[in-house]
Amino acid sequence: MSRSVLLIEDNEQNRYLVTFLLERSGFTVRAFADGAGGIEDARTRIPALILLDIQLPTMDGYAVARALRKHDALRGTPILAVTSYAMPGDRERALEAGCTSYIEKPINPETFVDEVERALSGSTQVSP
Ligand code: MN
Repeated sequence: MSRSVLLIEDNEQNRYLVTFLLERSGFTVRAFADGAGGIEDARTRIPALILLDIQLPTMDGYAVARALRKHDALRGTPILAVTSYAMPGDRERALEAGCTSYIEKPINPETFVDEVERALSGSTQVSP
């Protein structure tokens, strides 16, 4: 199974942390700071999983998720929304936009990779 992850995140520190945690676990990571770059990359490379920040400049994560889902080759690709929003409504909004699941910021380095693995294996189990 491919372990290529596409990360769309505008915060440099978060990009660094997520990339570090995933590469340490054998994933390859391509990271973009905005939706346009990430969408273009997803269309051409078809990652195994997409980690999508919701608060992004210009085009927010909801719009990015909808754009990603318009491409047939990306219909089945897990998209994990990564957001500091803790409101249940925001989670619903991410799922409505096409995200598969949801990870809250700040990222917990102890559980983050497990959550990614779970999404990649197609499990719908949600961590407590
Ligand atoms: Mn952000």
